[in-house]
Amino acid sequence: MSTSLRRIVKERSGQDVSRCQACLDCDVAVPDGEQDIPLGSLVQMVLYNDEEVLTCRTLWSDEVLRQARYACQRGLNIQAIMLALREEACKRGVMELQDERKR
Ligand code: SF4
Repeated sequence: MSTSLRRIVKERSGQDVSRCQACLDCDVAVPDGEQDIPLGSLVQMVLYNDEEVLTCRTLWSDEVLRQARYACQRGLNIQAIMLALREEACKRGVMELQDERKR
């Protein structure tokens, strides 16, 4: 069985997504088209090991990434979570899927 995204994120970023309360207070103000899901949903997808998170537009938006560091009201570093997920996506070779989406 492959390692869960939750565990991978914990090991790489030190962030425990089980602390997420799904309050969705981590909404960031970014231009249209930068996000397909809210940041809180991204964190929840990690919690439930939903691998679709690796190809969502929100994960690959540099503008979202820039704002994500202090977006969580409960102290999670979502920027670090996103970087760990990007790294995992590259490892799994899902970057090509992402490129196709941009076309
Ligand atoms: S603000 Fe923090 S705790 Fe609330 S949904 Fe966003 S990541 Fe989860």
